[in-house]
Amino acid sequence: MPKAIGFAAQAADQALEYFEFERRDPTADDVEIEIAYCGVCHSDLHQARNEWGGTVFPCVPGHEIVGKVTRVGNKVSKYKVGDTVGVGCMVDSCRTCANCEDGYEQYCDNGFVGTYNGEDKHMGGVTFGGYSNRITVAQDFVLKVSDKLDLAGVAPLLCAGITTYSPLRHWGVTKGHKVGVVGLGGLGHMAVKIAKAMGAEVVLFTTSPNKVDDAKRLGADHVVISKDEEQMKAWRNSLDFILNTVAAPHDLDAYLTLLRLDGTMTLVGVPAESHPSPAVFNLIAKRRSLAGSLIGGIAETQEMLDFCAEHGITSDIEMIAMDEINEAYERMLKSDVKYRFVIDMATLKQK
Ligand SMILES: [Zn+2]
Ligand SMILES: [Zn+2]
Repeated sequence: MPKAIGFAAQAADQALEYFEFERRDPTADDVEIEIAYCGVCHSDLHQARNEWGGTVFPCVPGHEIVGKVTRVGNKVSKYKVGDTVGVGCMVDSCRTCANCEDGYEQYCDNGFVGTYNGEDKHMGGVTFGGYSNRITVAQDFVLKVSDKLDLAGVAPLLCAGITTYSPLRHWGVTKGHKVGVVGLGGLGHMAVKIAKAMGAEVVLFTTSPNKVDDAKRLGADHVVISKDEEQMKAWRNSLDFILNTVAAPHDLDAYLTLLRLDGTMTLVGVPAESHPSPAVFNLIAKRRSLAGSLIGGIAETQEMLDFCAEHGITSDIEMIAMDEINEAYERMLKSDVKYRFVIDMATLKQK
């Protein structure tokens, strides 16, 4: 079996460090990928530190993977050696439940297989993610990546991109809609770019006055400082849709009241402790909806990548070397990143 190298957490309270392990040889249906770049998602940190519980150690995080195909199994029809490809948050699912059949693998009734810390059906134990030099994945969970775009900037599309694209598409955001985006981090900055490319008028809500210029540069038509009640009031009953990316508990009513009749606010940020319950009156007063959304299915992820290639959209990134990952986690905790760290896997060397 091919040897792999990577960075792993050996325990919840330990820094990530160099780790050697094995990947499977490609089965008939598999694609083997040499990883060029891997984005750094907040989920990586949560799971490496077992903050959600259930992490099996050693844990090799990483689910924003781009690279080149190095080998394919003999039944692989979608990819050939040398193709540029991506892998996101899932590497498999049951493929037979109603949700999988409808292309909603992320909502698989039997649970999808996570790219890391998922149950590894081939090797036993858990799956190891993208903080490594290679990965073997079933072709149906591999995405085509356009060579038109900067590859390092594409990596975060595999999680941050699809997490924001899917709800914007599902709730039918289009030209003429007024769309609110709450928070300007890894998810929020993608939401601004994608909603703008879909033709919406984009209103970015932030607590930080120092993010105004950047929000406008990224495509926001309006920037509202959410602590300023007068500014908030001016947007009451006006927005068709709000994508709320904030992962800290906050007052949802402040945003629900900005929705017009039949408007929806969708949550994609996951706070460690729940938000205070919103007031029912604000929902019934304008038949408003409060919803949630999780990444996106494989077909939709491909659609998102194609959409981003067509519109020249990538993530704004800060490139790091593999051995800078622990420092990057500390900076991520302080939101000190514009807007996503991406690991240059060429910096990962055999010891
Ligand atoms: Zn992620
Ligand atoms: Zn399923």
